[in-house]
Amino acid sequence: MGLNRDAQNLSRLPETRASGFLHFCPPFSPLPVRTVYSSPAAALRDALRHAVERSGMSSLGVLHQGVPSPATLTGTDATAQAARIRRQLDRLAPLPRALLVVAYAPQALKCSCGARCCSGSYPNPEWADAMRVALAHVSTLLSGHAVNERLHRAVVANALTRTKETTVSLAQRCGVDRHTVATHVSIIEADLTGTRQTPGRFDHATTRIDALLREAGIVADEPRAQAA
Ligand SMILES: [Zn+2]
Repeated sequence: MGLNRDAQNLSRLPETRASGFLHFCPPFSPLPVRTVYSSPAAALRDALRHAVERSGMSSLGVLHQGVPSPATLTGTDATAQAARIRRQLDRLAPLPRALLVVAYAPQALKCSCGARCCSGSYPNPEWADAMRVALAHVSTLLSGHAVNERLHRAVVANALTRTKETTVSLAQRCGVDRHTVATHVSIIEADLTGTRQTPGRFDHATTRIDALLREAGIVADEPRAQAA
């Protein structure tokens, strides 16, 4: 049947395989359909929460759902809106796109399938993929330092989701000396979220998606009455 043959276009083919899900988990609350957002953050949060189940579903997500299909979108206005936002996001280069996904996609997806083996949530494969892209980049910044993926993962997530965590807490959580933590934090943060003088990669990504979403009429300062 070629389940993944048209995976690229699944977001435009709603309800492709809506039937036949035995262990289908409906993790999405209905997306509030809005024509215009006041910020790219709000638009991205909505879109990334809504249409996470797309092509490139990780094996973990597949296992959890018990079905080998990436298609779980339903044909609604909300889906169309999420697709419009994602189309702009997909115009960015892989790294800036990944940074925005790490910042605004849910890290875990809720699941209400009720299966005995289900813990009620599972890692969002889209977020995990984006984090992998971010970590590959970060490792190039720290080539002279010992690789500690656990630490880098925590620092990247904290920086992009604006989460404050002390170096002591990070050091304990990742089993690393806190001076090492401080060094890695300052290098990673300077690159991603910038310094007082210089914007970081995440700032540039935000500027770019803001421009694209405004150009597409999805983000605007003044809410407009009419659909674009
Ligand atoms: Zn489940």
